[in-house]
Order: sequence, then structure tokens, then C-alpha cells
Amino acid sequence: MADTSSNPADLTPVETAPVEIGILGGSGFYAFLDDVTEVTVDTPYGAPSDSLFIGDLDGRRVAFLPRHGRGHHLPPHRINYRANLWALRSLGAQQILGPCAVGGLRPEYGPGTLVVPDQLVDRTSGRVQTFYDGVPREDGRIPEVVHVSFADPYCPVGRQAALAGARASGWEPVDGGTLVVIEGPRFSTRAESRWYSAQGWSVVGMTGHPEAVLARELGLCYTSINLVTDLDAGVETGEGVTHEEVLAVFAQNVGRLRTVLFDVVKGLPAARDCICSHALDGLETGLDL
Ligand SMILES: [Zn+2]
Repeated sequence: MADTSSNPADLTPVETAPVEIGILGGSGFYAFLDDVTEVTVDTPYGAPSDSLFIGDLDGRRVAFLPRHGRGHHLPPHRINYRANLWALRSLGAQQILGPCAVGGLRPEYGPGTLVVPDQLVDRTSGRVQTFYDGVPREDGRIPEVVHVSFADPYCPVGRQAALAGARASGWEPVDGGTLVVIEGPRFSTRAESRWYSAQGWSVVGMTGHPEAVLARELGLCYTSINLVTDLDAGVETGEGVTHEEVLAVFAQNVGRLRTVLFDVVKGLPAARDCICSHALDGLETGLDL
């Protein structure tokens, strides 16, 4: 039986050793770890995108969750982000890595560029983006209305581990920048894309929000790692972004990105004292975290 002493009482206990690190990745990472245990987790928010795949990596216990589900059946706006983050935390994960495919908003950020952003702009609409809505859950618990600090949306320690991991793999990353998250599932119009670019934003994606803020609300570290698969419509001169292009570039780089993630996992500290770990200090959440 798992040691659930560090888990909140209302989280689902599972029969596995506690996980340290969670990875929310695209379907291309199915085989992220070689030897995995598949675990299904239910949450007070419903089912996560898929089973969680748990394995060991260099002595660290890692859980991988394909955020679009196996077979990529969930578009970004239909992902149950709360269930995904809750499921990872219920297994014990304290640090989350969020690799994702993005479009480049600057000509120099072409396909194959790796960006570790330090800022985020939310251009999604209608997504549930908080655990602390004051609405009673099915299990009877009532979350308080809580406002977390989100000025710096990503874990500063995780970012440094991501940058170091990329460099160790011979991939010079872009250190910092702004990820704008759009609702999707369509790609941007040229006008939208030019507008994002004119703001000085770096890359555009569809899943980075509310993933990061929900992690922060649970006191988890979240690090966004962006693989540029295309130049967005406003900065390219061709026919605009296509799904095939995105998949092709992702497939070309997935092995490399997997190697980077291995190095990042090894570089994450076992003990935390970052802003994320103190996000809930002094706050009454009502959720027994
Ligand atoms: Zn952190």
C-alpha cells in the first residue's frame, strides 16, 4: 500500500510509491518511460485525460499523463485540466513539467526552437481555471474563495533545470519569453498572430492555460517547455499553419525532447523552497491540502 501520509485526505490513494514529478505531455510521449505501471485515478473533478503512467527515472518517481488522452481525442478546450492536476497531486507529484507544441511569433523562432518561457498571457475563454470557486464539491467539501499570486507563473527553479537540461542535450534554448495561450482548436488568423507578435509575445499555444495556474493553486511547481513546430500565421509567408506541419515537426523532435526531459527530471531538486511551494502559505483553502 502506498504511503499516503503526505497526500491530502481527500485525494485518491493508489497502490504505488509516491510520485515526485508529473509530466503533462502530448500524445507523442506515450512511451516516455520504458517500464511503466498504468494507474487509473478518479478525482473530485471527474476523470483525467487518461491513465497515468508511473515509472522510475534515475531514482526519481515520475508520472506521465497524456493531456490529450491516448489517440489525441481531447482538443485543448475540452481537457479536464482540474482533474489532470488533481490526479498528479494525488499521486504525490510536487513538480510538474509541461512540454507542449507552440507556434513561433518571431521570425527567428523557427521550427525546432526550444523556448522556456517566464511569462504567460491568457487568451482562452470559458475554461474552468480555479479550484477555489466556493462551489461545493460532490464529496461535500467546500473550497474557500482564494486568490493566489501568479505574477511569475512558472517555477524559477524548474525553469533553470529546464534550461540546463536542454543545454546538456546540446539544444540551446531561448531563456524566457511570453507564451500566449489561445482557446483553439483553430489556429490564429494573421491579424491575431500579428497582434500577439506586436505585443512582444514570443510563442502561441493552446494548453498552457489553465494548466500553470491550477498547479500554482495546489502549491505545485510548474515549468513550461515549448517546442516551436511552426511559425505562426502572422510571421510566415506561406499558407498558414497546418495540423500536418505541426505533427511532422513534433515527430522529428520528440526523441530529442524526451532526452531533454530526462535531463530536466534529473536536475529538479528533491526539496523545494520556491515561490510555488509557498503559494498557499497563510491561506485557508477549505480543501485540506
Ligand atoms: Zn517551484
